[in-house]
Amino acid sequence: MDKLRSEAVDSGEGPKSSQIIGRLSGCGLSSSQVSRYSRQLVLPSFGPQAQARLCQGSVLIVGAGGLGSPAALYLAAAGVGQLGIVDTDALELSNLHRQIAHQEASVGRHKAASAAASCRALNSSIQVVAHEQGLLPHNALDLVGAYDVVLDASDNAPTRYLASDACCIADKPLVSGAALGMDGQLTTLCMRPNGPCYRCLYPEAPALASCRRCGEAGVLGVAPGIIGTLQALEAIKLLSGVGQPLTQRLLLLNCLSTSFRTFKLRDRSAACASCGDRPTITAANLADYDYKAFTGQPFNDAAPPSLALIPDAQRLRVQDLAQRLGQSASDAAGAGSSRPPSHQAAGMDTHAGSSPMESSPETVHHLLESTPTSEASSGRSSSLGLAAPIGGASGLTAWCQMVDPSFPSY
Ligand SMILES: [Zn+2]
Repeated sequence: MDKLRSEAVDSGEGPKSSQIIGRLSGCGLSSSQVSRYSRQLVLPSFGPQAQARLCQGSVLIVGAGGLGSPAALYLAAAGVGQLGIVDTDALELSNLHRQIAHQEASVGRHKAASAAASCRALNSSIQVVAHEQGLLPHNALDLVGAYDVVLDASDNAPTRYLASDACCIADKPLVSGAALGMDGQLTTLCMRPNGPCYRCLYPEAPALASCRRCGEAGVLGVAPGIIGTLQALEAIKLLSGVGQPLTQRLLLLNCLSTSFRTFKLRDRSAACASCGDRPTITAANLADYDYKAFTGQPFNDAAPPSLALIPDAQRLRVQDLAQRLGQSASDAAGAGSSRPPSHQAAGMDTHAGSSPMESSPETVHHLLESTPTSEASSGRSSSLGLAAPIGGASGLTAWCQMVDPSFPSY
């Protein structure tokens, strides 16, 4: 308390110490909380009442990845009373460059549990709950209803629609963030009476082929770091009542130019199936809504499913592909790659020939990349001289596991 008093006086600005003491009495903060949060308590635009609201508030963070990691850490540090962290995935080494709530020692551990442990280590005075079962139609209303604010830090379409639908029904604000490549975006949805929901912005699910993820498109680690931090900022403002939330506005981040742009969004749609005047998605039927059918994607952050353009009977197993290419190296050697130079650099400069593909590692990548792009371009495989082309159902991972463990996987 003495330190807080002296800072307020020494700063030459803001409320005088006697005013701060007066405001602290009755705001419900313990002496320990006053000490911990003193630097933001003394802010004239924040103060002890706002801090008290944070300490009594709760936030559900859907996704413990690149967005959810900084969001969870900042919200824990700021003193949000209860955090719920939702994720179903296990931590991988390739996550660590952006998912900063996790440690090397946690690789293989459940992300929700790992992030929750990091938050508890940062601030033992708050409650943190790991929801390892994920956000699903049958539990979404219970989860969302138990918290004051929801952060969408996921990276798959079914979860984005489900989080938005549940927030509409439960009348909870939804802070939606996204980041890919060098770009990011942020908006706060489901704010009555006029704020749009996710379905208002995207009434039709995006085509599967356009849903690129970090594993395919790449992402600079700080891009989700910036957006996730801004999601924490939005949640703090919503809980504390300080400032204006980013509702009916969309913020775009460009990391290359270090620039932000903000666009006005339209009001909610009266015809929206979720937040419209006559919604068809309700508390009574949310659990039965088929998000997988609506989006064509599953409820997890893994790679999107194959487009299934090629019947299984016409696919090659990676073992067969290795044998075939080993026998026909000259055919494969002339093949070009459909992968961008950055992917080739990631996979090939570090792999100086130790497999049947020694003369043409590009071909392995071309054939095994199990993405919609590679499957959609399967017609090129005939030019590689392979009778039963493209066998990439299980892709590079299968090649690494069953044919060549030294081949770079990313
Ligand atoms: Zn809507």
